[in-house]
Amino acid sequence: MTSIDIKANLDAVHDTIAAACARANRNPDDITLVAVSKKKPIEAIVAANMSGMRHFGENRVEEAMEKIPLVNQQADEKPIWHMIGHIQSRKAKLVEPLFDVVHSIDTLKIAAKLSQLAGESQRTLPVLVEVNISGEAAKYGFEASDWKNKPEIKENFWNTVEKLLQLPNLEIRGLMTMAPFYDDMQRTRPIFAGLAELCEQVRSDFHVTLPDLSMGMTNDYPIAIEEGATILRIGRAIFGERA
Ligand SMILES: *Cc1c(COP(=O)(O)O)cnc(C)c1O
Repeated sequence: MTSIDIKANLDAVHDTIAAACARANRNPDDITLVAVSKKKPIEAIVAANMSGMRHFGENRVEEAMEKIPLVNQQADEKPIWHMIGHIQSRKAKLVEPLFDVVHSIDTLKIAAKLSQLAGESQRTLPVLVEVNISGEAAKYGFEASDWKNKPEIKENFWNTVEKLLQLPNLEIRGLMTMAPFYDDMQRTRPIFAGLAELCEQVRSDFHVTLPDLSMGMTNDYPIAIEEGATILRIGRAIFGERA
């Protein structure tokens, strides 16, 4: 994939974002596009950076450790790095110094560990809480499917949020989810609407801002925008198919 292709892909993604925003009566400036660069070489990431991309997402710690320092050296403007994949707790200490935002808080243990590490680095780490809203056998994320009909699920999730909000060095920015892959992207709508509704209820019960909803990938981001996404995580539409 040449830098010309990446530039053209980015233009097309920005057009699609603008069209979805127009349908939803939203301002594109309220949406952050994270270019998911997993499995892509540093040349492609640097090319995207040259085309104006600031935010990048990686999902594996080892790969990120190799690529991030090199991309940072070559970048025009320092990229902002988002961790979007599951973190094993023994790898938390590798994640904290590399990433600016973590989307994949899926256990209290990893949250507590990252808070401690951020404290040792004398900083506050912005994070999102990963939620399994679809009820499908998602691998990661706090269980929150059908929370409106199942009091025990709601209670468990609310207890989790309460504990997360108490961690001193994390800034809980909002919720993140991954929809299952569907041929018809309209089928993702209830999942994204469900995450938005869950976030709204948490905001109002805990009197917190939680400004961000991280949802929407190559297959479904127009729907995610219509349902309130503030952060999109898009890989293939920008960098092409992964090997
Ligand atoms: C790979 C990945 C994405 C991007 O998926 P694409 O289909 O390439 O847009 C988004 N979020 C997470 C958590 C991912 O692992």
